[in-house]
Amino acid sequence: MKKSKFIKVKCPDCETIQTIFDHPSTVVECIVCGRTLCLPTGGKGDIKAEMVQILE
Ligand SMILES: [Zn+2]
Repeated sequence: MKKSKFIKVKCPDCETIQTIFDHPSTVVECIVCGRTLCLPTGGKGDIKAEMVQILE
């Protein structure tokens, strides 16, 4: 069963924690330093940051 989620990730560069959508349609960047956190794939995003928590 496919289910979209929001996840909390930590930026590897500046350690800012932010909530992102795990099925993004565009590149998700860190709000502070601009590092790429998640790439769109057409499905579940390719997460490039450390996952902290999954929000159901
Ligand atoms: Zn950052």
